[in-house]
Amino acid sequence: MPELPEVETIVRDLRPHLVGRTIQGAKLSHDDVLRGVTKRTLVTSLAGARVIGMTRRAKHAVIELELSASRPSRLSRPSRLIIQPGMTGSLTIHEEPLTPGEAKYAVLRAPLDDGRELVYRDVRRLGTILLLDEKGWAAYDAALGPEPLDPGLTPARFAAIMASSKQAIKKVLMDQRKIVGVGNIYANEALFAAGIDPSKPSSRLTLHQSTLLLSHVRRILEAAIASQGTTFRDYRTGTGEKGNFQLELFVYGREGEKCRVCGTRLAHTHEIDARITVFCHRCQQ
Ligand SMILES: [Zn+2]
Repeated sequence: MPELPEVETIVRDLRPHLVGRTIQGAKLSHDDVLRGVTKRTLVTSLAGARVIGMTRRAKHAVIELELSASRPSRLSRPSRLIIQPGMTGSLTIHEEPLTPGEAKYAVLRAPLDDGRELVYRDVRRLGTILLLDEKGWAAYDAALGPEPLDPGLTPARFAAIMASSKQAIKKVLMDQRKIVGVGNIYANEALFAAGIDPSKPSSRLTLHQSTLLLSHVRRILEAAIASQGTTFRDYRTGTGEKGNFQLELFVYGREGEKCRVCGTRLAHTHEIDARITVFCHRCQQ
């Protein structure tokens, strides 16, 4: 899945090209990617809409729109187009007409007033598209936990969130309602770096441990953003490039191999949230 760093990269790439532009119209090839909005509402709302901002929230690209006053829409203004790229999804701006190969998997095509085109491609259509008004956005946003890279998330606030659950720390770390954007690879690696047993009840972390954990989560996510996200098969940055981040993996994918720090054989389990957890008995307490 495109994780927080990949979506952040896409948003940073596209923002300067999109903000201030007006969407001329929209074509949607399949409506199975839509959530809570009909094809008709999406297409009519996007036509004539001006892009007034672009941000990231969790693993979603959020395009803020001022809808055209001359077109009827059931949505109040302004509203937000939210795209969560799936494993095979990419969101890019094209200067040239799409090649037949590019057009084949284009799910959403939105020509802009400068002649370019915003395109969401998704081979297997695992991504989702939403269109929310202010009220819908407020509810959506409120259901998500804080952003790990937000300076407003202080170590004390992070510690309070972690202390609020007795579930395994790894499960809590990956719970989007508690904190957003930490996927399985990053959770495994951050817990190893912080020396924390992934199955430890979240509420039993010391302030020192949770502070260390937050700093490693941030270090790993920031390194991934600086290298424009991870390279995996269908991922493209907003400019259509492959990412070039190769995280040095200490535990993820290394079950049965020797710990790089102490040489102990790494253990693994599927008992926490059914996802693979790899850890070192000796380094993680
Ligand atoms: Zn070890």
